[in-house]
Amino acid sequence: MATEPAAHATVAEEEYLERLFWLYEAGLPMTGANMARAMQLSAPTVHEMLGRLERDGYIMRTPDRAIDFTDSGREHAEHIVSRHRMIERFLTDVVGVPWDDVHEEAEQLEHAMTPRFEAYVRATVGDAKTCPHGHPIKVGERIDGVPLADCELGAKVTILRLENEAEDLLHYLKQAGIDPGMQGEIAATDGETVTVATGNGPTTITASVAETVSVIADPSPPPRTALPEQLVLGRERYGR
Ligand SMILES: [Zn+2]
Ligand SMILES: [Zn+2]
Repeated sequence: MATEPAAHATVAEEEYLERLFWLYEAGLPMTGANMARAMQLSAPTVHEMLGRLERDGYIMRTPDRAIDFTDSGREHAEHIVSRHRMIERFLTDVVGVPWDDVHEEAEQLEHAMTPRFEAYVRATVGDAKTCPHGHPIKVGERIDGVPLADCELGAKVTILRLENEAEDLLHYLKQAGIDPGMQGEIAATDGETVTVATGNGPTTITASVAETVSVIADPSPPPRTALPEQLVLGRERYGR
């Protein structure tokens, strides 16, 4: 029997719901093992928290140990994720924080917001469709992309989304000259690095980081979800 959801999720529960939603959105299996890897916590710690989320009515677990949201859990998760992206947009557009710094700030702010301040922020970012990294603020509006790493020489690409918001990866991408929304053409790709020629000159990143960059490409490679390791793992610190 599903229990009634608690009226308010704790900060820890919100963090888990957010991370679960991120696995779900990326098309990765929602399992305790993937959660432990994504949260960088031990399996027993994650197991305990998943038990709490289940008791509080946010998730269900199937006999084969897969995790699914309850309706309430999905609603909560969508709200938290949307709020995170909205705060990021507010920080870049209104406060002027560089886009490679906003994720960590939003992680703190998103749990400390009153509904009134949240409404103010939402009104201020207005019609913004995505966070500064290309993730939809209305979570259902995710556009399918392909990994930049898969694109062939000469393909025209538009940078759609930076799938992994680990801070060190965002710094690396910004420094390399990758910008969400940027257009260019694949100038070189050899399995080690990918070079995109843009109006501002060429930008080169490693192929493994290019796995975490979603693009719209013409011609387009076949659809493929980026490798779980690369989605979960940051460049040095290996994820969050
Ligand atoms: Zn973020
Ligand atoms: Zn973002």
